[in-house]
Parts: sequence; C-alpha cells; structure tokens
Amino acid sequence: MAARHLIIGGGTAGMNAIRTIREEEGERSEIVLVSAERPYSRMVLPYYLDRSIAESHVFTATPRVLADWGVKAQVGRRATALDTKANVCTLDDGTTVEYDDCLIATGSSAVKAPVDGADGRGVHSFWTLDEARAVLAEIGPGSHVVMVGAGFIAFTILNSILALGATLTIVEVAPRILPRMIDDAGAKLVEDWLTKHGVRIRTGVKLTGIEDAKGRKRLRFAAGGDILCDVVIMATGIKTNLEWLKGSGVTVNRGVVVDDHLRSSVRNVYAAGDIAEGRDLITGEPAVHAIEPTAQEHGRVAGANMAGKDVGYRGSLIVNIVEVCHLDVASFGAWDDAKAEAASGVKPDRPAYRKLLWRGDRLTGAIILGPSSDIWTTNDVGMLKGLVQSGVSLARFKAHLKRNPFDVKPAFIASKTTSALLPETILGRPSKAPGNTPVAV
Ligand SMILES: Cc1cc2nc3c(=O)[nH]c(=O)nc-3n(C[C@H](O)[C@H](O)[C@H](O)COP(=O)(O)OP(=O)(O)OC[C@H]3O[C@@H](n4cnc5c(N)ncnc54)[C@H](O)[C@@H]3O)c2cc1C
Repeated sequence: MAARHLIIGGGTAGMNAIRTIREEEGERSEIVLVSAERPYSRMVLPYYLDRSIAESHVFTATPRVLADWGVKAQVGRRATALDTKANVCTLDDGTTVEYDDCLIATGSSAVKAPVDGADGRGVHSFWTLDEARAVLAEIGPGSHVVMVGAGFIAFTILNSILALGATLTIVEVAPRILPRMIDDAGAKLVEDWLTKHGVRIRTGVKLTGIEDAKGRKRLRFAAGGDILCDVVIMATGIKTNLEWLKGSGVTVNRGVVVDDHLRSSVRNVYAAGDIAEGRDLITGEPAVHAIEPTAQEHGRVAGANMAGKDVGYRGSLIVNIVEVCHLDVASFGAWDDAKAEAASGVKPDRPAYRKLLWRGDRLTGAIILGPSSDIWTTNDVGMLKGLVQSGVSLARFKAHLKRNPFDVKPAFIASKTTSALLPETILGRPSKAPGNTPVAV
C-alpha cells in the first residue's frame, strides 16, 4: 500500500515538504494537506500592502497546482487534535485523517499587546493575508498610522505604509528600536535615519490603552502624551501555534522539539518551520527561528526523510535582512553573543556600521547596515552571511578585519568561502552551477 503522508499547515515549511516528497520518493505516495489558510507566502505581504504585486501573486500553490501534485487538500480546515498512538488527526469539523507519518507545520500567529482596546476596530495585527487585507482597506494618503512595536516585522512593512502616502509613528516599549535584531549603536543610526525621513519614533514608552475618538483612535501611555491616529498596527510579537497538540504525546518546549532529521519525540511525527525547535547552526543549541529560510530548509529536510531518504540537518542560521527608506539593515548568526570577541566600525561620512563577532578564528555573528545605493554594502551583506554560515577559518584575516570591518571582500575571496558553500545543498546532493559556469574549487 502507498505510504500516507499528512502535512498540517500549508505555509512555507509545509509546501516545501510536499514538493520534496514528490521529488525524492521512490513510489508515488498519498499526500493529504490540512491547512487553515490557502498556501501563500507571508513574506511577500509587504509588497501586496504597497500594491506592487496583486493579491493573486501571494499564493504559492493554486488548487490546480495541488491537484497536479496529487495532493488531497483540505483547505480552510484546522487540525484540533493529534492521536499519535492511533496515527489519527482530528479536524475542526469532527472528521479524522489517518496517516503513516505526518508533518506539523502550523507556524505562528501574531500576539497583540494586552491593553484595553487592543481588539477594537482599526487595531490590526499584520501576520496573515486577511490581516493584510484589513490594513490595506484602511490606509490611504494622509492617514496617520501608529505602529506599536519596533521589531523586524514592523520594519518589513514600514516602506509600504509610507508608499501608501500615510504618515507613520512607531512606539516601542524597549529603550530602542530593533531590540532583537541589532545592537545599540546600530539602532541609533537607524533611528536617526528614519527620523530624517519623516518617521516619528518614541522608544521606552508603555502603551496602556486604545480608545475610540470620534472615528479616530487615541493611544494612551503610562507616562502621558496621547497619540491620535487613524490606524493602529500591533507588531508586538508572535507565538507558536502549539495549543492543538495538547495530549498528543509530542514533546513541546518553546516549539515542537525536533532532532537533526526534523523528527519529534514521536518517530513518525515531524515538525518544521516556525513551530519547530531545532538546532541553531552557530550555537548548536535548540532554538525557534521564525524566519523564511529556516522554514524552507526544515521543510526540505523533513520532506526528504518522509520520502524515505536519510537526510541530517546541520542547523539553521539566523538571518535578518530588511531595508527601510533605502537603508539596508542586516544581522546574522550570534550577533548578540556577549562572550564573543567583537570589533565594530562606523563610516564618518554616511550611516554605515559594521560589527563582527568572533569565536576563535571563526566569524560567528555580524551586524551590517548602510545605504542601499552603496553597492558595497549590498554585496557585503551576502559575503558576511557566507562567512558566518560557512564557518571557515579566517586566521589570516582576523587582525585586518578587526581593524577594518568594512574590508570584507579579500577575506571572502581568499578563504574560498564560495567553494565551501556551493557544494553544500540541504539534501546533500552535489550542487551544480547553471550551464557551463566554471566554479573555482
Ligand atoms: C509581513 C511579514 C514579513 C516577513 N518577512 C520576512 C522576511 O523578510 N524574511 C524572513 O526570513 N521571514 C519573514 N517573515 C516570516 C516568515 O514569513 C515565516 O517565518 C514563515 O512564513 C514560516 O513558515 P511556516 O511554514 O513555518 O509557517 P506559516 O507560513 O505561518 O504557515 C503555517 C500554516 O499553518 C496553518 N495553520 C495554523 N494552525 C493550523 C491548524 N491547527 N491546522 C491546520 N493549519 C493550521 C496556517 O494557516 C498556515 O497556512 C515575514 C512574516 C510576515 C508576516
């Protein structure tokens, strides 16, 4: 009998797993997809918000594509319980699906700050397509938008809000912006840059409530200084969608705990993406990385193993890259490792900052920011990521890089980082450059 795979969640992790199962399996299996939403990419929602892409472009698989892949899709249905002894998943309409193995890929959801009025009209999260539609319907030229929270997700939609002709105020409870993405020095540069571009920023302020005010919204703060606006977006964090796994016997910590094959504590149950707590590439510690590359890689590895392959995974690299008002801001790996040896540099003539973090001769983390128009900044984002990801020894270049963190290119080329990374594919297959492109080894 053909193997029966159940994929729960049709986001990045789930869809990558399905594609990989079809690529890797020896015999055609049965695949059932249960997903609360249609398959789409959350990461492109900022481009839908500023209308640079149509809504139809956010979807990663149409019903037709799913049918072509031979996937029995139950879209709009939620899994409510998993019986890992009987290998049965129960859905929200009371029906059940039996499986031989299953993948938990239910991702995360937005969490609003727990204040009065957070659930009122005109107060939105920005995590799902429905939420994006609601925000888009309310913002127009001249609207005043207040974004609560100055983290990565807030920054991914900042340009789009400005492009719609709205004015923007960001309020943040922490003493600075991007507290989980860059350090104090970097945050100061970004804050100055945004202020220069007309974004109002208030840090270290505690929101206490949101009230209706004659068709507008009034935000109240512990230290006073109300703000009146038209639309509120709460970018105040996310939580993993784990509740439905209660009683399943699957071990859960901050996420579903998985091994290097993306298997949970139950052998035929895998987990991938935002919901999974897997290995961090740099620290080797268990971590939940709610980012697209991790969801993609987890999905590929889990899918290959479900198809009968034996694929181990080295771990995922934290990668945060965002561009605001033509300023690139990025951090990689253990960028906040207090025990690492660190060296940083600032350019006197423009908002450009680097911080490189070392453990021995290896670069284990980096922060980089600078104008997008500065081609070297843009290239260095890729090179720094490569150096952290490959973990190559930089013994010969360390002293130079510590003195001049802006001169990354010679170390990148001479350390042959490209040839260290190129042969490495997630599924362990030899990688091939397109056509006859020569690759230096
Ligand atoms: C606006 C925005 C911008 C972003 N930008 C970036 C970026 O620039 N770079 C980056 O790395 N990351 C970015 N991300 C994060 C990235 O989108 C997520 O890390 C990624 O979507 C995680 O994929 P996933 O498959 O684990 O989960 P998701 O994509 O969240 O998919 C989970 C799926 O499971 C479904 N589901 C949930 N509960 C159930 C249930 N009980 N039963 C059935 N189905 C269920 C959901 O409906 C959904 O279809 C961004 C996110 C947002 C919202």
